Amino acid sequence: MKYNIALLKGDGIGPEIVDSAVRVLEVIGKKFGHEFNFTAYDIGGIAIDKHGKPLPEETVSGCLASDSVLLGAVGGPKWDTLPGNIRPEKALLGIREAMGLFTNLRPAKLYSALKDDCPLRSDIVENGFDIMIVRELTGGIYFGERGMREGKYGEEAYDTECYSRMEIERIARVAFETAKKRRCKLISIDKANVLESSRLWRKVVHEIAEQYPEVECTDMLVDNAAMQLVRNPAQFDVIVTSNMFGDILSDEASQITGSIGMLPSASLGEGKRGLYEPIHGSAPDIAGKGLANPIATILSAGMMLLYSFGLTAEHDCIVNAVDKVLEAGYRTADIAHGENSLSTTEITDKIIENI
Ligand code: NAD
Repeated sequence: MKYNIALLKGDGIGPEIVDSAVRVLEVIGKKFGHEFNFTAYDIGGIAIDKHGKPLPEETVSGCLASDSVLLGAVGGPKWDTLPGNIRPEKALLGIREAMGLFTNLRPAKLYSALKDDCPLRSDIVENGFDIMIVRELTGGIYFGERGMREGKYGEEAYDTECYSRMEIERIARVAFETAKKRRCKLISIDKANVLESSRLWRKVVHEIAEQYPEVECTDMLVDNAAMQLVRNPAQFDVIVTSNMFGDILSDEASQITGSIGMLPSASLGEGKRGLYEPIHGSAPDIAGKGLANPIATILSAGMMLLYSFGLTAEHDCIVNAVDKVLEAGYRTADIAHGENSLSTTEITDKIIENI
């Protein structure tokens, strides 16, 4: 098969880590008989420097014309003093909106080879954990009505949490489908004891659950979920939740894996095309030094193969290669703890050797 992939390398370590993922995809293409064509577009700080804006039209149209998009990261100190609407990070919201991406999938997995990186007590994580957070990405309080007004105590600001049945239904379906492909366990997280929007969320999730009898679906209040993630993370398989709760809980879940350079993500819409990126930023402190861990981006490319192209064996091949490299003790500096470490290119070579 032939696939056209748009590359948004961005800033800082973005170009280094995307180049690693491209090398891995090329080897996968050769092994499994696929042709991956790559076209690079500017985004973030580099786009501001070259085109005067963080998200040029050419980048948007290139992404919309592609089969899928792989993003590195954007931002850095050079652009930190610009006003909010032309900052590099603005491009992330813009490209998600332009591509109609309403689902964010963020796996948080503890690699057995990296158990010592987990900040939780060893008895809590002795069996590891492997969580998939399905976060609603384009609704809720981040997009609701907001403003300033005169209230009972003078000047006040407000933001509104609002969810439609349609928005809840479509994210719930993604979550149930995701759970079906994993351990068939879904926990829906809300604040239904207080919020009206959460009560609709819960009602609609229960309705959709009837169409998925093979998936065990339970509810959990968000405050309890925040505790349970650090008390017993292994109880979670798939989590589905709103935009803001997902934003906060997915950062908590990523932290308990102990390794920011390892975690991929996927943003998906109605069609097959998605936006795949590591969860970390552009790490300007280590850019250009060959120190960046490319594994999060390589695993993001793996998620693209699975979720956008339906290439399960090819995805599994990447995941297994990463597992083997870690089990063999190879590490980049961020997870080496002062032991011998490999550069970005060297660890990519090791992963390729294991494909
Ligand atoms: P960051 O994730 O870039 O870095 C945090 C720390 O983790 C740094 O010490 C960095 O060196 C390290 N780190 C991150 N990724 C790594 C990797 N792959 N390998 C090894 N070490 C890694 O977060 P930050 O420092 O808060 O932000 C830096 C810039 O990135 C800012 O401009 C911020 O706005 C931007 N940012 C972009 C995105 C994105 O593009 N999606 C996300 C978060 C932050």
